[in-house]
Amino acid sequence: MSAPLLSLRGVCKSFGGVVANHDVSLSVPEGGIVGLIGPNGSGKSTIFNLICGTHPVDSGEIVFRGENITAKTTAEIARGGLVRAFQQTRVYKQMKCLDNMRISAPPQGSWFARPAEESAEEARRLLGFVGLAEKENWRAGELSFGQQKLLELAMALTAKPKLLLLDEPTAGINPTLINGVMARLRAVNEEFGVTLLVIEHNMRVIMNLARNIFCLARGEVLAEGAPAQIQNDKRVIDAYLGG
Ligand code: ADP
Ligand code: MG
Repeated sequence: MSAPLLSLRGVCKSFGGVVANHDVSLSVPEGGIVGLIGPNGSGKSTIFNLICGTHPVDSGEIVFRGENITAKTTAEIARGGLVRAFQQTRVYKQMKCLDNMRISAPPQGSWFARPAEESAEEARRLLGFVGLAEKENWRAGELSFGQQKLLELAMALTAKPKLLLLDEPTAGINPTLINGVMARLRAVNEEFGVTLLVIEHNMRVIMNLARNIFCLARGEVLAEGAPAQIQNDKRVIDAYLGG
């Protein structure tokens, strides 16, 4: 067994009197797709904020690629290859898709630290990958909501992440487009070798996408397992029904 790409050990976080995360331990294997589910307010987004360094942990440890990143800044963590999409990336609606791609590229160590023509080629390649090749000269605001999400995904890929954190990637997307987004996420994992940690409220999506799922309830890990296990876990069902 090789060491996990990301691991959390005993992570705790409170806001004033509100316990958002208590003693959370979880791990994400390299190359995997791991799901994070749980009722509203169970602490899922807070976990992402702690992993990315948006908020400091109260206690516990976060290790990424063998390095303790618990006290690092968001920028340092992102440079190390841990990127949060749909939060750190933002579509500029007045700008053309291709220009959105170019401003999201990090200055160093990326495909874009190259002559303008080459970086435009890479931007086009990634736009093509998410199915937006024909839209490069459209303003991002002219795209559908789902297409804007795909543009954000392409923008996140310009950073060449090792691990992408996705907070509800299908939220607000037209049901007929959800399968397309799922297929793109799978391709990101398989073709680009990017490990995914995905928060998702759509059970059909996460059960199809993830190979392993952690379920949070009241800030704690309630259950962990393969989708089939989690789906039939009485504690998980009760947590959702209990609100
Ligand atoms: P989820 O993403 O699972 O819906 P959150 O992580 O957003 O849950 O929230 C968990 C708990 O922590 C909630 O009670 C929420 O109100 C609280 N919380 C989250 N972020 C903050 C914050 N920045 N300040 C105060 N309370 C917060
Ligand atoms: Mg949330």
